[in-house]
Amino acid sequence: MNDIKAAIRTIPDYPKPGILFRDVTTLLGDARAFRAAIDAMIAPHAGAKIDKVAGIEARGFILGGAIAHQLSIGFVPIRKKGKLPFDTIGQSYELEYGTDEVEMHTDAIKPRERVLLVDDLIATGGTAEAAVKLLRRAKAQVEGASFIIDLPDLGGAGRIRAMDVPVATLVAFE
Ligand code: 5GP
Repeated sequence: MNDIKAAIRTIPDYPKPGILFRDVTTLLGDARAFRAAIDAMIAPHAGAKIDKVAGIEARGFILGGAIAHQLSIGFVPIRKKGKLPFDTIGQSYELEYGTDEVEMHTDAIKPRERVLLVDDLIATGGTAEAAVKLLRRAKAQVEGASFIIDLPDLGGAGRIRAMDVPVATLVAFE
């Protein structure tokens, strides 16, 4: 996990002054770290039977696509509002200032399909919580969630575990 952590770049004051942005593009560009991260995101859920991977826009698409390919299963994009071309269901969630909404195609999940949720980072857990709600409204069984980075001070992983979803994170930044 030290290699994975070392491959993540930190950008101070992005996108706003005072924010330390954890930039995974450096990890994605490093073949060994990328493969190690994908394997480590899958391993904790090895006991679960998974039918589909759902990735949260945008970095969750890159990770989720690689995981779906590795497991030879399908991929479902969970996107920001207004980006998907077919019929959608949406789920709004609170931001520090205002609200946002994630959407998924109505036919992306069949009832009782077992889904692994994926994103690069969990902070407050608001985005992942909305994604779990969305998947459950589509009658998916959310078997687990994997993130490369946890920001434990913000409590997001606990928030998702409280929804009875097993959560795996690879590295933490305090
Ligand atoms: P949350 O909803 O858990 O507060 O925020 C998580 C979402 O914001 C994820 O979709 C994640 O990609 C994005 N995010 C927030 N902060 C960072 C960051 O420092 N680095 C990266 N790569 N993504 C972030």
